Amino acid sequence: MSSRILVVEDEYAIAALIAINLRHAGFEVLLARDEVEARGHLDTVLPDLILLDWMLPGQSGLSLAKRWRTEVRTRHLPIIMLTARSEESDKIAGLDAGADDYLVKPFSINELLARIRAVLRRRAPETAEMALEVAGLRLDPALVRVTRGGQELKLGPTEFRLLRYLMSHPERVHSRAQLLDRVWGDQVDIEERTVDVHIKRLREALAVADCAALIDTVRGVGYRFLRVLPPSTAG
Ligand code: CA
Repeated sequence: MSSRILVVEDEYAIAALIAINLRHAGFEVLLARDEVEARGHLDTVLPDLILLDWMLPGQSGLSLAKRWRTEVRTRHLPIIMLTARSEESDKIAGLDAGADDYLVKPFSINELLARIRAVLRRRAPETAEMALEVAGLRLDPALVRVTRGGQELKLGPTEFRLLRYLMSHPERVHSRAQLLDRVWGDQVDIEERTVDVHIKRLREALAVADCAALIDTVRGVGYRFLRVLPPSTAG
C-alpha cells in the first residue's frame, strides 16, 4: 500500500508541483489550502505524513503543528514543515512545535523525497496499522474492526481507542490518570470517573463475545488487559 501524504500549502503552483512529483514517486497525495481543508482530510482518513507550509492564510503552519501534536488522533503523525524562512530560530521553533523535519524553500524534489522517506522510515513502528490479537480477540486499526471467533463487536470510537491501547499493553496495570493521558490525551478537563464509564461500555461490548473478563479491575489502582481469559469468569 502506498503512503498517503497530506500537503497543506496555499500557493497553488507549489502544491501542484509537489503533488505531481509525489504521485510520480508512488505516493498518494491529498491537498489542502488551509486549516479547514486539512481538518476535513484528517477527520476522514489519517495520512502517513503531513507536508505543512509555514505561511498559511488564517493560521500559521507552526500553530497548526502545535495543535495537531496535542490531539490524540494526530499526535503521532509525522510532519515536515516547508518554509521560505531560513533563520535558525525559525527552524528551532518548527522543531519545537513538533515537526519531524524542516525544508527551506526553494528545495529540490529529490531532497523532498529523501526527507519524506527518511521520516517515514523513522516513524514506521508508530504509524504501522498492525492488527492486534490477544486471547482470540482481534482488533484491526485499518478497518476499525474488532472481532472474536469471526463475530464482529460493535464499539464506539472511544471504546475502540481504549481497547486498542489496552491490547497494545497486555498484562500491564494502568491507572485511570494514565489511561486519560494515553487515550483521551488533549481533553485534560475530563474526570477520572469517565474512564470507568467507558470501561463499563467496553465490557458490555466484549460480553457479546464472552470475553468481558479480559478487562481486569485492579482494586485501588486501575485496569489491566489480560492475555488469557480467566477460566472461572469466562463471559
Ligand atoms: Ca504559503
